[in-house]
Amino acid sequence: MKYAILSDIHGNLEALQAVLQDAKQQGCTHYVCLGDIVGYGPNPRECLHVIQELNCPTVIGNHDEYVAKDQALTGFNPMAADGIKWTRDQLTEAEKNWLRDLKYVRTVDPFTIVHATLDLPERWAYVFDKLAAAASFNYQHTAVCFNGHTHVPIAFIRTPAGIQGGLYTRIRIEVARKYFINVGSVGQPRDRNPKAAYVIFDLPNNLIELRRVEYDLTTTQKKIRAAGLPESLAQRLEQGR
Ligand code: ZN
Repeated sequence: MKYAILSDIHGNLEALQAVLQDAKQQGCTHYVCLGDIVGYGPNPRECLHVIQELNCPTVIGNHDEYVAKDQALTGFNPMAADGIKWTRDQLTEAEKNWLRDLKYVRTVDPFTIVHATLDLPERWAYVFDKLAAAASFNYQHTAVCFNGHTHVPIAFIRTPAGIQGGLYTRIRIEVARKYFINVGSVGQPRDRNPKAAYVIFDLPNNLIELRRVEYDLTTTQKKIRAAGLPESLAQRLEQGR
């Protein structure tokens, strides 16, 4: 059984479609989504519908929450607030309810999924170092946990000797270790690589593989401009940041 682990789609339909096509070609039969389906990108509704049709375990991301819960946008810079308001206007009440009902953490087969961290997942902390990873590991009861949120694919591994962290492309799961793995972002990569990122978890072989997929980002950029969303959102896609 092969799982495709998707995160941070951010309304980028072209990237999502390219990733799903790649996952199919790679023999994935199961899917999970780690949140931030909406926000930034020009196709929040379409991406939401694709995920709903996959009918896969999904957890809520901070952007899903900002858009779905009508909380005041104090503390946001005006450009970010405008983007959230734009996305809110694209979604029906039923679609916002669907997002609002998503849980923060889910256990799927033998692994766990969360958007940010397992310690206080509703706080949306960013895990860039071992210290932050250590806090999450304290709440991890499965060997493997997948997260997103930073849009940077990094893996942390806890062994009896301590925690190591770094970039990865393939990881083989070994006993007596715990893995906290950021799967990168489908719709807005920020590791200077503009290709869409996702992970395949090959369960029988205990193998985790990071995939990078080319997609038609020129079309996505055109849609961002046509929607009147900030130009910087179009530019960052080709820069991967
Ligand atoms: Zn995100």
